[in-house]
Amino acid sequence: MGNQAQHSTWVEIDLAAIKNNVEFVLSHTGAAVMAIVKANGYGHGALPVAQAALQAGASYLGVARIEEALELRQAGMTAPILLLGYLAPARLKDALQAGLSLTVWDNSHLEYTSQAAADLQLPARVHLKLDTGMSRIGAPPSQAQAMVEQIQSHNGLFLEGVFTHFACADEGNPDPTNQQLAAFHHALDNISGLVDHSILIHAANSAASLTRPDAIFNMIRLGIAMYGLHPSPECPLPEAFQPALTWKTVLSQIKVLPPGRGVSYGHEYRTSHNERIGTIPLGYADGFRRWRGNTVLVNGKITPVVGRVCMDQSMLQLDGVPDCQAGDEVVIIGKQGNQRISAEDVAHQWNTINYEVVCGIGARVPRLYLPELPDD
Ligand SMILES: *Cc1c(COP(=O)(O)O)cnc(C)c1O
Repeated sequence: MGNQAQHSTWVEIDLAAIKNNVEFVLSHTGAAVMAIVKANGYGHGALPVAQAALQAGASYLGVARIEEALELRQAGMTAPILLLGYLAPARLKDALQAGLSLTVWDNSHLEYTSQAAADLQLPARVHLKLDTGMSRIGAPPSQAQAMVEQIQSHNGLFLEGVFTHFACADEGNPDPTNQQLAAFHHALDNISGLVDHSILIHAANSAASLTRPDAIFNMIRLGIAMYGLHPSPECPLPEAFQPALTWKTVLSQIKVLPPGRGVSYGHEYRTSHNERIGTIPLGYADGFRRWRGNTVLVNGKITPVVGRVCMDQSMLQLDGVPDCQAGDEVVIIGKQGNQRISAEDVAHQWNTINYEVVCGIGARVPRLYLPELPDD
């Protein structure tokens, strides 16, 4: 066995899939790609994903938090990085010293940014965020012109981009996106005399990149689709995309328990006959949810989790897989034999979205990278 036998539970990331997905989007949109690697690259590992995305032709990185950006800089990543949202004013200088591009959404943050740039004698590259209908961070489009003038009145500030974010691009109804797009266009018209062609204009997330050619300006912000995950059930990916993540664990012990034995905390599950019960070293601290009805793959078969999920362990009912043994691999997300459990299947089971499933994979779960993984 390869590397993976060293771990209790681990994630395998196929970086070739990440590259394939970025290349597909590049060739189909023709726009520059900002690879969104916030939340540890949607649980996939921010640095390896960022490197793969840049190798595939992405030209920009996007993160949510300064800690995420600094981690990339400390690892030697020199590509442009945009902090997509809030930054505590106390961290502005750290961000400027790290050469990050910053979002501005109101005048007071703009003033703080300008002050920090002046104190450090460093330029601040800023992207003006317009709230066209998502109703989260962003300036009203009606203030776009005044804010651009304000930015241009400060010597140390450089307007590098203008952007907005869609609320409903992954849904069937195009009306909300149409309205947001119209508001964005209106604001862009108002500032067209003030800005030059090199400015980055970006609106589309993955869903809009795939379904709304009219929302692609000169850059897109590519998140979920880069990981080969569907933006939503209503907005599936084309066939060419490949999911990059597989989540595995191992059967740690198997025992046959007599009828009437309680399994796990609270004895919520009780055996009804001589049952083959297996243990896996995977629990809610790894991001597996404490939820009834979980299933995993053992020997290529969908196998039920029984009893409560513990912090570090869970139990399986193995009557359907009589030939499995301790040490066998168990798949939580991914393929095994002819069966597959997707992140979307798990999300459906947990009554959430695939984004939350992969972002929730615990920090203690090692991430291993294909194709660099040694062969078995
Ligand atoms: C997370 C995020 C994205 C990426 O969205 P996906 O749906 O994953 O493509 C794009 N833009 C902003 C502002 C974001 O916060």
